[in-house]
Amino acid sequence: MKTIALVAHDNRKKDLMEWVEYNKETLKKHKLVCTGTTGRMVEETLSKGSKKGDQKLDIKLLKSGPLGGDQQLGALIAEGEIDMLFFLWDPMQPQPHDVDVKALLRISSLYNVPTATNRSTAD
Ligand code: PGA
Repeated sequence: MKTIALVAHDNRKKDLMEWVEYNKETLKKHKLVCTGTTGRMVEETLSKGSKKGDQKLDIKLLKSGPLGGDQQLGALIAEGEIDMLFFLWDPMQPQPHDVDVKALLRISSLYNVPTATNRSTAD
């Protein structure tokens, strides 16, 4: 069982949710860590169609990205708690927390965490 971090900027959430839906059965077997809004959407996508008695999702929701979620995730990476990162960041729009986005990408490189930033690398 791996600990998988999932984060998507607003314009990339649709992409990520399609990918999550496609990889639903695989993702359910792992521990998930997400920034707030992404996490709520992932939870909803993975719970769709689940029945009573199905295995409970193991998903931890951090704060929303602009409110410090990216920094919380960076700290977890520095602590060695994250095995891989799927981070669909938005290359077309500046974010209020651009510095945190850069810090997260930096820390994932520093700690050699496999990181996917688009759907083809995610696959
Ligand atoms: P969100 O944050 O999941 O709360 O939208 C993502 C981000 O902006 O890093």
